[in-house]
Amino acid sequence: MNHLLAADETVYLGLGSNLADPAGNIQQALAALQQLPASHSLADSGLFLSKPMGPQDQPDYINAVVQFETRLRPLALLGALQQIEHTMGRVRERHWGPRLIDLDILLFGERIIEEQDLQVPQTGISEREFVLYPLARLNPELVIPGHGKLSALLAQCPENGLQFVGDIV
Ligand code: AMP
Repeated sequence: MNHLLAADETVYLGLGSNLADPAGNIQQALAALQQLPASHSLADSGLFLSKPMGPQDQPDYINAVVQFETRLRPLALLGALQQIEHTMGRVRERHWGPRLIDLDILLFGERIIEEQDLQVPQTGISEREFVLYPLARLNPELVIPGHGKLSALLAQCPENGLQFVGDIV
């Protein structure tokens, strides 16, 4: 099928939630990701508790990073993630405001993508503790295209209260 990539690529996705039952929302999103076509072998970072970016008058977040292999093209994957967000009833109110589920493409193989609807590595990745520390649990040797070694980025990244809170069950 020509809408698929010729070979699997390793993708890292960021998951975040701070409404209703955040850990349950992450778990539900993970179950939906496991159903994605042309994708397999999912590993996850476990759950992290983090402080919100931007407005502080909202609950703390639960974040996780998942890794999998996919032959979906980047924009097809983005569309599938937005469909999961939509199905889970994400309420999009204000920028960086509270959300039921947020799914982001952090890394897509070694690609650098600069399209109107998709920037990969995700903008801001190099200073976000709730992305860098979970990524390191999955693959401490990672090199972030355009940003260098994950280990060097971590050395410059305060934890900002980030806590590992457990495995995804
Ligand atoms: P957000 O409010 O964080 O969910 O932002 C959603 C918007 O970010 C969508 O319109 C996407 O097209 C855009 N976007 C750009 N780059 C990415 C990325 N790497 N992963 C997910 N969404 C992205």
